[in-house]
Amino acid sequence: MPKKVIVIGSGPGGYPAALRLKELGADVSIVEAWDFGGTCLNRGCIPSKAFLDTGHRVHAFEGLRRLLKDGSGVNFSPEMLDWEKVKARRADVILKLRGSLEKLFQAKKIEVIRGRASFSAHHEVTITGPDGKTEKRTFDAAILAAGTRPSFPPPFRDFHAELTDSDRVFDLPKLPKSLLIVGGGVIGLEFACFFNAIGVKVEVLELLPDILAGEDPQVTRAVRTSFEKRGVKFHFGKKTASIKTGPGLKTLELEDGSKLQAEEILVGAGRAADLTGMGLEALSLAWDRRGVKVNDRMQTVVPEVYAVGDVNGLSLLAHSASRQGEIAAENIMGGDQAFDDSIVPKCVYAWPEVGSVGLNKAQAEAKGITVKTARAFYLGIGKAVATDETEGFAQLVFKADDETVLGAQLVGGPATELIHLMALAVKLKLRKKELRQIIYAHPTMAEAVHEALQR
Ligand SMILES: Cc1cc2nc3c(=O)[nH]c(=O)nc-3n(C[C@H](O)[C@H](O)[C@H](O)COP(=O)(O)OP(=O)(O)OC[C@H]3O[C@@H](n4cnc5c(N)ncnc54)[C@H](O)[C@@H]3O)c2cc1C
Repeated sequence: MPKKVIVIGSGPGGYPAALRLKELGADVSIVEAWDFGGTCLNRGCIPSKAFLDTGHRVHAFEGLRRLLKDGSGVNFSPEMLDWEKVKARRADVILKLRGSLEKLFQAKKIEVIRGRASFSAHHEVTITGPDGKTEKRTFDAAILAAGTRPSFPPPFRDFHAELTDSDRVFDLPKLPKSLLIVGGGVIGLEFACFFNAIGVKVEVLELLPDILAGEDPQVTRAVRTSFEKRGVKFHFGKKTASIKTGPGLKTLELEDGSKLQAEEILVGAGRAADLTGMGLEALSLAWDRRGVKVNDRMQTVVPEVYAVGDVNGLSLLAHSASRQGEIAAENIMGGDQAFDDSIVPKCVYAWPEVGSVGLNKAQAEAKGITVKTARAFYLGIGKAVATDETEGFAQLVFKADDETVLGAQLVGGPATELIHLMALAVKLKLRKKELRQIIYAHPTMAEAVHEALQR
């Protein structure tokens, strides 16, 4: 008899797990309470990139006007954008991708169950369908891939309906003239970049002293400076004391007595697993504020139950979720795989783009490793100058003694694509001299990496 496996959640953690399980011969069912494809496809990675691409095209128009000096023939301005059409483009992209995913599941003959799953006993889930009817299913193994929801910490919690978040911002009925974003993490910055590009006045409020917590200070400075040049205003180290909504502008009163006002406020203060009603107590699963506890094989304290993706809180990224899903699938089917978080690329899809992998200088030094860094700016790279993409740099981190590549931070250009070259170098523990043997095509943005290797 094939192993019976239930996957809960069809986001980038759940669906690759189901596909891999099927490939390995399991009898697999996937349960989804909401939209197939999860946060990533419906309210996250994909719609935000569709928005960002619209914004980037506007930004490119502005750049063209500047490059052609008097801007003759380039008569577009952000105010000419139709917000309804921007939203419609995003919806088209989602429908296309969701349709392909659903077809793939049909083709692979994977059972898709619509409903909300909850563990009701060991080896058993109860699924409540959209019509309210319940059904019990037994399993040999289960993968929980239930994701996260936007967090609304106090005092924002009491104003959930009056403020927006990363789920609802995609459907704002009207484009606001001004937007205040609470949170200077990746999600907050990507929305800041997009809304600024399409002509909205954007301010970002961050509790910490800088954006992109944990990122190298050279990277955050470059991104901050670029955003500020385009008119985004940052407020750091300030806590919100109270909130006023109502007709007209919405107001945040800060603990230092100052006030920030905007037509719309987007709370991007992180994400957290919503584990209520999942029946975790029925199995005595262990969880904390970050999510369901797992080992590096993605196994919970209950050996036949695995938890992958955002729900375990290890790395709130779609590609981590997918890798963890595949690892759980393989381990259920007798494999022995562990999640290696040292080579997870961390990307910001704004402009300038950011891609970082492995250790930065501070992280290496915190581990007691003596490092050397080398940096090359795009200003000196032919392709960058020819295409007016001179913002940013490639920064490489090497072990001081034998020059093994430990990490890289890329800002600007196609950083989110180029970072894979560096992920390979970190994974294979390549040394500087080996990376230098690669021939870098000319003219390319990758030459910034080559240039840094000469330093
Ligand atoms: C605006 C935004 C932009 C982002 N951009 C990026 C990006 O560019 N790159 C990147 O790597 N990451 C990005 N992320 C993060 C990424 O979306 C998540 O890391 C990823 O979706 C996590 O995948 P998951 O499968 O763990 O969870 P999810 O994608 O959240 O999927 C979980 C699914 O489980 C379902 N579910 C929950 N409970 C149940 C239940 N009881 N029964 C049945 N189904 C259930 C949910 O309905 C959901 O469909 C972004 C996030 C946001 C919000």
